[in-house]
Amino acid sequence: MAKKNNGLSKTSLLKGMQCKKALYLYKYHYQDRDPVSRALQDKFDRGHRVGMLARELFPGGIDCTPPTIFQYEQSIAATKALIMRQEPVIYEAAFKHEGVLVALDLLCFRDGKWYGYEVKSSIRTSRTYLLDAAIQYHVITKSGLALEDIFLVHLNGNYVRKGDVDLQQLFRITSVKDEVLEQQLDIQSAIKQAREVLSLDAAPVVDTGIHCYRPYACDFLGTCWKGLEKSPILQLAGVAMQDKIDWLKNGIRSLEEIPEAAISQGRMHAQMMAHKSKRAYIDREKLKAFFNDISYPLYFFDIEAFQPAVPLFEHTSPFQAIPFQFSAHYIERQDGPLEANEFIVQPGEDGRLAFTEAFLKATERPGQIAVFNTLLEKGILFQLGKLFPQYAGAIRDRVVRMIDLETPFRKDWYYHPGMQGGYSMKNILPAIAPDLSYDQMNVKDGQDAMHVYHQLWYEEDFVKKSRALQDLLSYCQRDTLGLYHIYRHMLHEISSE
Ligand code: SF4
Repeated sequence: MAKKNNGLSKTSLLKGMQCKKALYLYKYHYQDRDPVSRALQDKFDRGHRVGMLARELFPGGIDCTPPTIFQYEQSIAATKALIMRQEPVIYEAAFKHEGVLVALDLLCFRDGKWYGYEVKSSIRTSRTYLLDAAIQYHVITKSGLALEDIFLVHLNGNYVRKGDVDLQQLFRITSVKDEVLEQQLDIQSAIKQAREVLSLDAAPVVDTGIHCYRPYACDFLGTCWKGLEKSPILQLAGVAMQDKIDWLKNGIRSLEEIPEAAISQGRMHAQMMAHKSKRAYIDREKLKAFFNDISYPLYFFDIEAFQPAVPLFEHTSPFQAIPFQFSAHYIERQDGPLEANEFIVQPGEDGRLAFTEAFLKATERPGQIAVFNTLLEKGILFQLGKLFPQYAGAIRDRVVRMIDLETPFRKDWYYHPGMQGGYSMKNILPAIAPDLSYDQMNVKDGQDAMHVYHQLWYEEDFVKKSRALQDLLSYCQRDTLGLYHIYRHMLHEISSE
């Protein structure tokens, strides 16, 4: 039998701390991993970009990144040589101790002492980040380098860009040495357990459970859950994850099979009533009262925004939502024509002023403005009002006219079994207007829209760019057309007793 590669890395060790089987599969059945989602890939890419930027906090360093992931021995040797000559800054310094390999984002030498820095592209620190730093600390110090301190470098959520990005303000550097020292025994025992797992002839038997989703959704859900990870039971809203897992383990496969005793009031009640009767659950009185307050003329409106980790524009903060497009449908009276209006900022530009002016023009006629979940729209408009005080009054006028069409769904006055436990437009629209589903669209949801738009910042092919812009416009337009259909559907439901 071929000798197994039982080397460990920070990633594989963290996997082993979540689940022994996940570690085994990751090391020996890597090809069985679930496909990487676009959201996860975006997160990886963002981490890489922020990591590169953080190097500028300590400029002039020597990069030990290996040419390929299979050449880490070169990096370890290079790191060793650079440490010997007390190089002030080393990027991706690599270390190995008893078969555990780590690469530290930044290693600095000052006043005769070594300091380690691990960069995270998020605003908050977490237990996983601390574990991450604890593994680095363990391997680095055990391999012979004394670290005076170890830090997490993460984004400062309170930073507001003024002029060029101020890296000293953008990043927060937090010492985590005390926490990391507390973890050292746990790390040692995690390494020992991981070694035992990797010496097995077959994957250890581990039952599925809540650990498959915490702290991260495992890469092998498709292998262990065998399709059940896509079950509508897991999509149910308002139910504890542990309950859903227990039902699945007890052989419950459809919403109709959930025991009556488990069905409480509110959200769960509405969902179960609908699934058992195979008809929409409707609280007609509340629905009527809500829609009585809505009348023509009406706008149906939606904004798409992206959230760059590093602020791209003046007066923005990390992860602040920056609007890049909107769609508005307008209808003056019940039997009137539906007019479409849309706007998109050319990728690469700061289009916030143009966006504001286009939005105000598109909504200048009287009428309530129907939105699905006003939180994002109101937040963005509030920011634009602050940024362009000359338009603050007009923006306030639009905000006051906004009504939230998510309310009947959020408050459980309406639930359609086709929503499959989901409460977003992507669940509601296909349930009540199947012709308007998002399946055939190139941009299928807000996450996709963000990704496509952000990619366009770097796209130079004119044809590809135009096509992607058109996809974005079609997507946003589908949202507001869908909103109009939801409105009409609700009116129909409350009028048919
Ligand atoms: S899906 Fe669950 S049981 Fe399977 S490897 Fe992942 S964490 Fe372990």
